[in-house]
Amino acid sequence: MKPILLGCIADDFTGATDLANNLVRAGMRVIQTVGVPEGDLEIDVDAVVIALKSRTIAPEVAVEQSLKALAWLKKCGAHQIYFKYCSTFDSTDQGNIGPVTHALMQAMSASFTVVTPAFPDNGRTIFKGHLFVGDVLLSDSSMRNHPLTPMSDSNLVRLMQAQYPDPVGLIDYKVVSKGSVAIKERITELTRQGIKAAVVDALSNTDLVELGLAVKDLPLVTAGSGLAIGLPQNFGLKPSLSQTHLPSPYGHRAILSGSCSEMTLKQVEHFKKQGHPFFALDPMELSRDWSYLDQAVQWARSEFTKSEGPVLIYSTSAPEQVRSVQRELSVGQAGELVEKAMGELARALIQMGVGQLLVAGGETSGVCVQSLKITQLQIGPQIDPGVPWCFARTPSSLHLALKSGNFGREDFFSYAWSVLDQQTV
Ligand code: ADP
Repeated sequence: MKPILLGCIADDFTGATDLANNLVRAGMRVIQTVGVPEGDLEIDVDAVVIALKSRTIAPEVAVEQSLKALAWLKKCGAHQIYFKYCSTFDSTDQGNIGPVTHALMQAMSASFTVVTPAFPDNGRTIFKGHLFVGDVLLSDSSMRNHPLTPMSDSNLVRLMQAQYPDPVGLIDYKVVSKGSVAIKERITELTRQGIKAAVVDALSNTDLVELGLAVKDLPLVTAGSGLAIGLPQNFGLKPSLSQTHLPSPYGHRAILSGSCSEMTLKQVEHFKKQGHPFFALDPMELSRDWSYLDQAVQWARSEFTKSEGPVLIYSTSAPEQVRSVQRELSVGQAGELVEKAMGELARALIQMGVGQLLVAGGETSGVCVQSLKITQLQIGPQIDPGVPWCFARTPSSLHLALKSGNFGREDFFSYAWSVLDQQTV
């Protein structure tokens, strides 16, 4: 087995897919694994993305899992390590971006790393250390209402410093706009000043390509998925779509949506307005009587006697409804309850012949993939920035798209299937 070039550790499932998608498009052959693999790699690839579910767990557990992933990637010969988090820097004051970055740096004896959630293709840009989502600051975006990681500050240096023990610096746009040599000089200067991690401004893909060149010799980079477009060039690889073909799709089509993000709300509404079948899952009903879930299963089964789908089952709700459920059940319990239900529903749907499944929500995708016991995903054609179709060979062959909350166009739930039809062979 050839040593891998890039070893990636992602803190959630859709984030991992998003990263793998960008790496594939930048010319790498990529396998995404679900958790740290038990055995060795079975095929030669350029990059492996290990998907953890460590974004909102206790920091010490996130650190432990990330170090285990690091050890496995090092065993595969990884030349450089990429710690991937959300492009909206989803975290709390405790972490887990800071503690995991610190632990990885210590384990690798790294003296410096970059921090850049920028993903301009998806409207995530950084200027003077402040993160923008589209035209507004992160703290003014819908992320302020996120059920698990509400983001009320947009200053990434301050956010990172709150959860990171060493001094955090900034490589601002004045430097970044001058290109890779200037960025490299700034890294040397910051390292001399004792800065261990620096937020990097980026407004465009060009900035990320320049940053990619500048971080060639760093053992560890930390970023959203955007930086992925700048790294394959360091290994002599060029952008190509040759790695995206998947086997032909088959079976019924279904969507599970546990995301309450603003874009998912719009996507659910759009899908419903188009006249597609849907089932709204009520968390309060579920908390009173778990067998309520059977109603959703029976509903889907009867829909599939009429058509191949797509059908939608969703718990997606507006912020005020989510808050009301959280007041009744607590934030953690509400999240766990819905996630558990989505995991069970995923299994039931596969059993009734679903061969193409779209899941909305990072945490939701994580539980669905775990519940389906999927361990490896081949990355296929991109539907929208950050969301590719994937293919799992085992335990049952399944086409899967895992969509992070705010990703995808408004008609994503109806549009995604056409990408699969057109681009598979
Ligand atoms: P996103 O990618 O949009 O952040 P996630 O799946 O990561 O979506 O997170 C959404 C969280 O909200 C999950 O923990 C999910 O179980 C929870 N959730 C989903 N629907 C509801 C609801 N109606 N009320 C309360 N919590 C919910």
